[in-house]
Amino acid sequence: MRPLIAGNWKMNGLTPQLAEIEAIATCVAETPPFADILICPPSTLITRAVQVAAGRIAIGGQDCRKEIAGAFTGGISAEMLRDAGASTVIVGHSECRQHYGETNALVAAKAKAAMRAGILAIICIGETKSQRQEGKALSACGDQISGSVPEGITSSANAIGYEPLWAIGTGESATHEEIAEVHAHIRQCLVARFGAEGKKVRILYGGSVDPINAREILALPEVGGVLVGGESLKTADFEAIIKAVSAKA
Ligand code: PEP
Repeated sequence: MRPLIAGNWKMNGLTPQLAEIEAIATCVAETPPFADILICPPSTLITRAVQVAAGRIAIGGQDCRKEIAGAFTGGISAEMLRDAGASTVIVGHSECRQHYGETNALVAAKAKAAMRAGILAIICIGETKSQRQEGKALSACGDQISGSVPEGITSSANAIGYEPLWAIGTGESATHEEIAEVHAHIRQCLVARFGAEGKKVRILYGGSVDPINAREILALPEVGGVLVGGESLKTADFEAIIKAVSAKA
């Protein structure tokens, strides 16, 4: 399975940062990695990012509404993201679940909207610190898979992002054992529900991935790529993470 290295810029990025996308696209063109590369800038930059990337890397959105169109001030539909040139959308990021009260059902509806629009959905799940401490990490992730992953999943239309909440932006990545255990569990849940199709869905790890830990994380079983927040804003570090994927070749 070809890994996916995805960068989530969150609410960061103005016109000058398009130069970072240009630099990463150039790096990818010069030394083609054994991975697909995706950057999700703020939606204000998507169209220009697509132009700058010129097909060398993919550009995605960070969220969408479930509706196609309508009276939802400030909302962006999956169709609008696609129209802007996005190939992918992140749904159910823990920040959206936490700050905007997103439920599993809403996340599933957003993932369905992405499939409707013909773009890839990266469906994020992950346990809290207290769930992990109470030994409930696997059941929490299993519940989120059941509730947030819609019917009709296909490997070409979806990926799962496993992002333990306590590892996001903290500098404390999950251990190899923790990542391997949860990824194996997610795979089991996907296969139990979707059969052969569930075997092909990429499962990304996210949470304090950096140039130092990326190589070993990417080499773990069932890790189909990484979802990178903070380090995707630093071009040299993101390029180093991209280069780390050769460990997976
Ligand atoms: C994220 O927010 O998706 C993320 C993984 O952030 P970070 O890499 O900064 O932990």
